[in-house]
Amino acid sequence: MEEARIAEIYHRVSNAYQIFSENGNEWEANGLNSTPFKNLVAAALSTVTHSKRVIRACVALFAVASTPEDIARLDDDRLKELIKPVAHYNRKTIQLKEMCRQLIQRHGGEVPATREALLALQGVGPKVADLIMNFNFGGDAIAVDTHIHRLLNRTGMVQTKSAEETAEIINTITPAQYRKHAHEWLIQHGGLICTAKKPKCEECIIRDLCEYQKLASH
Ligand code: SF4
Repeated sequence: MEEARIAEIYHRVSNAYQIFSENGNEWEANGLNSTPFKNLVAAALSTVTHSKRVIRACVALFAVASTPEDIARLDDDRLKELIKPVAHYNRKTIQLKEMCRQLIQRHGGEVPATREALLALQGVGPKVADLIMNFNFGGDAIAVDTHIHRLLNRTGMVQTKSAEETAEIINTITPAQYRKHAHEWLIQHGGLICTAKKPKCEECIIRDLCEYQKLASH
């Protein structure tokens, strides 16, 4: 897709949607990103899980354990019980314990501020690393989840097979002034309008720029 069209898409979504700190995002309202560590845990637990379930698990977890030391000390069964609302809670229990041990051993219990060090942690993939860099450490990499991956492919801004591939491309073609908050605008557009089962194209503010109908007919 040509640069001018991409810039116009960003121009419109940036006008249509607020950034999370302005719109009372539910993670923020429930304290899930009140510290870099909580944000990291919430993001790591969020894979293939609806946001409401992540919030339920994290509110319960952070009420009893909100530092790497606290979680590392928790009994496995207790931790499993606390994070049960999220998908794959058995696997995530083991990963979370190991991630906390790594944070303590490698980083003195702090969340590291580089993408490389984040990616080296158990259970942290590119999407989580980009989210943490963006929200906590002033990075401007656009974190791409399945919703953003779907939206960007429908629009024709990218034509990719995986969220990782989408992230690589979108981070190079997004104009610099939109990178910092692109994730927040795109995730709202994907959740409210360009929904998984039935996109609401008739209500969409970028309908005239989107290639979905054209691509779908091939
Ligand atoms: S026009 Fe339809 S497919 Fe394209 S971004 Fe809007 S809702 Fe999604």
